[in-house]
Amino acid sequence: MNESMTDVRDRVRTIFEPDAIQRRVQQLGEEIGAYYAGRNDLLILGTLKGSFMFMADLVRHVTIPHEMDFVGAASYGKSKTSSGHVRLFYDPVTTMSSRPVLLLEDIVDTGHTLQNLVHLLQTREPASLDICTLLHKRKSHLDLEPRFVGFDAPDEFLVGYGLDYAEQYRYLPFVGSLKDG
Ligand code: 5GP
Ligand code: MG
Repeated sequence: MNESMTDVRDRVRTIFEPDAIQRRVQQLGEEIGAYYAGRNDLLILGTLKGSFMFMADLVRHVTIPHEMDFVGAASYGKSKTSSGHVRLFYDPVTTMSSRPVLLLEDIVDTGHTLQNLVHLLQTREPASLDICTLLHKRKSHLDLEPRFVGFDAPDEFLVGYGLDYAEQYRYLPFVGSLKDG
């Protein structure tokens, strides 16, 4: 592997510019603060690794005290298509029982990962469980629809702002579609 950042960016067609992402993430943070207003026990749970950048930006705009942790569930590996099963590689240590939990996702595609994860987290008996996703392809049928959505996304393979292809591209400050070839 011997390619420059210019080569990398040439292979990604930008869909959501950094400024647009930052504006929307700020709005989401404020909406979340308003929705949980009056509570001081909110737990924001980011799905690894894809939501790390979204989480870092979002929590700076959540206007109420809260804790954060991560949950590691994977269904993709290096493939571009969902295998439809979930593997937990990080189980959060933070207590979830009797407190509001907000699950942060990078993207909802088939929703298989999320569906399985939601069922698992419900067994921890949070006071409430809601989903916030940065991107939603709107092709899934979930028992629990996301309460907060950043952007509707095209049904393409997206990378950047946390989203990877074979662990590359996560560092890009924008979200784009990976060109074929
Ligand atoms: P789902 O179960 O909804 O099909 O997707 C599970 C996970 O696959 C998502 O949380 C995300 O990590 C990954 N994924 C889904 N769609 C995309 C995509 O377009 N690009 C990338 N990089 N990852 C995706
Ligand atoms: Mg994910």
